[in-house]
Amino acid sequence: MAVSAKPSFARPRVIVIGAGLMGLWPAALLAEAGCTVHVLEAGAAARGASWAAAGMLAPASEAAEAGHESASTLDDFSLHSLALWRDWAARFDAAGQDICWRPFGALQTAFGEAGMHQLQRNSRAASALGLTPQVLDAHKARQMEPALADGVRGALFIKEEASVDPRLVLTALRALLADVGGRVQTGVRVRALARSGRGLQVLCRNGDALDADAVVLAAGFAAGAIDGAGLAGRLAPVKGQMLALQTEAPVRAVIRDARAYLVPRGKGRMVIGATSEPGLADDGTDARTLARLHQGAAAIVPALKDAKMTACWAGVRPQSRDGLPLIGALDVPGLYANCGHYRNGVLLAPASAALIRALVLDEDAGAFARAFAPARPGTPC
Ligand SMILES: Cc1cc2nc3c(=O)[nH]c(=O)nc-3n(C[C@H](O)[C@H](O)[C@H](O)COP(=O)(O)OP(=O)(O)OC[C@H]3O[C@@H](n4cnc5c(N)ncnc54)[C@H](O)[C@@H]3O)c2cc1C
Repeated sequence: MAVSAKPSFARPRVIVIGAGLMGLWPAALLAEAGCTVHVLEAGAAARGASWAAAGMLAPASEAAEAGHESASTLDDFSLHSLALWRDWAARFDAAGQDICWRPFGALQTAFGEAGMHQLQRNSRAASALGLTPQVLDAHKARQMEPALADGVRGALFIKEEASVDPRLVLTALRALLADVGGRVQTGVRVRALARSGRGLQVLCRNGDALDADAVVLAAGFAAGAIDGAGLAGRLAPVKGQMLALQTEAPVRAVIRDARAYLVPRGKGRMVIGATSEPGLADDGTDARTLARLHQGAAAIVPALKDAKMTACWAGVRPQSRDGLPLIGALDVPGLYANCGHYRNGVLLAPASAALIRALVLDEDAGAFARAFAPARPGTPC
């Protein structure tokens, strides 16, 4: 059941479950469109995957790593979302919200013959997306990023890629949501959803039962645990551990390598990631794993060897069965999913939010809505 935001109707009541990027972003768009929006967040603050993420906006690097030889629908959606990111970066900037927007490209490094072949394949994948990859020899790679190790054989530069600090983006979205009249309530865990008259009832662990015309389920990996939503068993956890280093190493672009990726945040901070641990849903870190990531980063940029670790953390990527996000109507009328964005949720957040907005308001949502509908062929609700 889609709701109408036309001014002649009472303001549609929308409840959003989860205050990560997939919850806050559509919440802000729907509140802007005139809905009464109430976001329910289980934690004292949103500390899920969105908070843990590195913040790379990397459609080509991801397509290359996935071995795509031609652009898939997900790649097209990623490129569309990257274009939206540029507009949003300007909008946040105009609102005085710093999101650490760094449109300085990404450099994939190679240290051996096999790595050089991989760069050529990745370059073809990036070209297939309509981007302009440049394969650089060692000299040019070190000219671009002088902090790279002597042993680098070459690199692939993708100038269109960028990065943000997802924690700052969460803060910016909360401010935007407050400005347009939306409300976030923390410490409220939703346990179940039920039909109620023409709408829905959201049942919380604290005993509250809240009525809504539409509900957006954006609880990340935990969306599958909410009774009545129909997502049980459709999302698998993939844990990722990361760390931050204090360093003045002069790195401008995101650097990606098989051993680690390096995401500069400016102001002497560099984020290093990440492990990929399928089946794990806890947020613990372990010293040996972090040391391995740190060593991997130092092999790429030697100045990081003695850099002090200032923080470490872990998050859980929500992975769907076919690896594509679940965006759209679920079996219960009025219930929409915005989850399952796996390792690209930061990149895909603005485009996913725009899709949810269109679907909830019963506007034309276009071809992406069909591709990522939770009821798509092969993935029954
Ligand atoms: C280590 C790591 C690195 C990553 N790096 C990148 C990257 O560089 N680029 C990129 O594009 N993507 C990256 N990702 C992926 C990206 O972070 C995720 O795809 C995205 O953040 C998922 O957002 P979400 O809002 O669905 O989930 P979350 O951010 O996890 O938000 C879900 C929220 O729902 C709340 N919640 C859960 N259950 C309930 C309930 N029952 N009731 C109420 N609230 C509930 C949770 O507390 C949480 O705050 C990374 C992920 C990880 C873990």
